[in-house]
Amino acid sequence: MLQNIRVVLVNTSHPGNIGGAARAMKNMGLSRLVLVEPQDFPSPEAVARASGASDILDSAQIVATLEEALVGCSQVFGTSARDRRIPWPLLDPRESAKACIEQVQLGAEVALVFGREYAGLTNEELQRCHFHVHIPADPDFSSLNLATAVQVLTYEVRMAWLAAEGLPTKMAKLETTSMLNTQPVTMDELEKFYGQLEATLVDIGFLDPLKPRHLMTRLRRLYGRSGISKLEMNILRGILTETQKTARGEPHKRREP
Ligand code: SAH
Repeated sequence: MLQNIRVVLVNTSHPGNIGGAARAMKNMGLSRLVLVEPQDFPSPEAVARASGASDILDSAQIVATLEEALVGCSQVFGTSARDRRIPWPLLDPRESAKACIEQVQLGAEVALVFGREYAGLTNEELQRCHFHVHIPADPDFSSLNLATAVQVLTYEVRMAWLAAEGLPTKMAKLETTSMLNTQPVTMDELEKFYGQLEATLVDIGFLDPLKPRHLMTRLRRLYGRSGISKLEMNILRGILTETQKTARGEPHKRREP
């Protein structure tokens, strides 16, 4: 589906930006790059900046006009660093990504068009687009680097695509150790801990069993508040065991917590 979304770069001057755009696209799962009159391409600088996405550069289509770049597209999104250059349907990147995905779900092809580093897209070029897309940057410094702008739009396209496909946006792989790390301790484990804690405090002479005062109540309140995990409980129990050995003058068995 993402293959039906093409990225069109118009009259780019710096080949590094073409490479950067290719990398941004490949990161987000897009592969169709169309270059309208690039000023310096192919170029080793583009390959360097693409760092591993040179397959996208190799298969890039080079054309002479924007019109040619848009053949077969049913919806065109033109990006502009300036807000409301000409009155036109304006979207933010998230809205444009949603519209883009809706189109490709219907089997249509769409284009995201990016302008020149120094001058953006001309009014004539912008009028060939169905929508204008503006990244809502700080109005006092609203022009992003070309490849960065490509990254923002393609990221939003990927997020919209993942949502449409019901795919997760987070890696939910919990390993055994991290399960132990996050799994909360149970009431009975906590009770065993309080028992050992009390015995240890007696062993080291901190708690007088004949005059316990409110010490255990206060410690229960403290530990009860802290949401201890199973792993943390293991550490605390280990500390108590070694403390008891010290108090009794028994030898220690060094081990990693
Ligand atoms: N001086 C130019 C800046 C162009 S930046 C101008 O004022 O138009 C190069 C390209 O990056 C733009 O043509 C556009 O495609 C994209 N771009 C940069 N900043 C953007 C922004 N805030 N929103 C949308 N596209 C942006």
